[in-house]
Amino acid sequence: MSAPRLASFHRIVIKVGSSLLVDGRSGLRAAWLDALAEDIAGLHAKGADILIVSSGAIALGRAVLGLRSGALKLEEAQAAAAVGQIALSGNWAAALQRRGIQAGQVLLTYGDTEERRRYLNARETLGKLLEMRAVPVINENDTVATSEIRYGDNDRLAARVASMASADCLVLLSDIDGLYTAPPQSDPSATMIPIVARITPEIEAMAGGAASELSRGGMRTKIEAAKIAVAAGAHLAIANGKPAHAIRALGEGGRATWFTTPSNPRKARKRWISGTLEPHGIVTVDAGAARALVAGKSLLPAGVTQVEGHFARGDCVLVRSAAGAEVARGLIAYDAADAQQLLGRNTRDIAIVLGHAGRAAMIHRDDLVLTASGFDA
Ligand code: GLU
Repeated sequence: MSAPRLASFHRIVIKVGSSLLVDGRSGLRAAWLDALAEDIAGLHAKGADILIVSSGAIALGRAVLGLRSGALKLEEAQAAAAVGQIALSGNWAAALQRRGIQAGQVLLTYGDTEERRRYLNARETLGKLLEMRAVPVINENDTVATSEIRYGDNDRLAARVASMASADCLVLLSDIDGLYTAPPQSDPSATMIPIVARITPEIEAMAGGAASELSRGGMRTKIEAAKIAVAAGAHLAIANGKPAHAIRALGEGGRATWFTTPSNPRKARKRWISGTLEPHGIVTVDAGAARALVAGKSLLPAGVTQVEGHFARGDCVLVRSAAGAEVARGLIAYDAADAQQLLGRNTRDIAIVLGHAGRAAMIHRDDLVLTASGFDA
């Protein structure tokens, strides 16, 4: 099997490790960042949507504040992140702006990606930024994330972002050029694996531990990230980001380990909705709405005749016809009380009924899976 081509992807998440962006002594590696921004602009100009997950807030804040080396206490790391994040996003914005690209800073916490209601909000914001051709520059919100409820490493955060944004590719740029059969520092016979089509226990065993002082994630978090990404229908590459123009090199078939997936983001998301989520309620629709759903449309409040169950925004619900047959399953954009009030109402009345603006669709077509066979093949 040959490695996937970077140019074939539509939506690419690029995760940049702290040790690439920040030099412990001199701070930000500005020339390196500029070269990366040039590569990103190249992909962007060819039409790909790009999202950056950038580490480096703590490392940069530490350099700016002149903090001692060694482990920081949680509140010290949070303070360092507060200082470093401003510099980090400022530099990203400037580097992209020089190529005519707008950057949008997005700071996420664990709950934003794992809690259904907040997940939908973050997904919509990212979608809107990409629609505007902006490049989201994402990091964990380290200043407020506490140790029990934080990712702590941006490898897994980047994989959750890839899944949330329905990206078809995730590139992890770090200071290693891929997955080796054994730690290359201690085993001269170790070889790099160019393609992993399935993450077996043997592959996991190759990951070991290892993380440096500047970066949190070792190979193990990268394998965890790969599991999340491939399950979400995204291919994942681990590549060495140290040399300038690492993305261009990857695009030209450069050295990397590719974790491939037979799926794609759309199929994976539909499988997740139809197979793994427990329905929390039932929404009954009229014949016109049922026909619209089969034709691939979103479910609008006007076509809903009855709502049952206790559900929150973002929960999975069943959609039934007037005769009681299951038509679809989907993630509902309103909680049960709001959905009840919107029954049969026109979309333009939503703000009047609820007293605040809401989503036009009760269930957006991207969040909907038809139960009738054939539709999703
Ligand atoms: N969010 C952390 C930072 O920006 C980095 C986490 C990681 O290195 O993976 O400093």
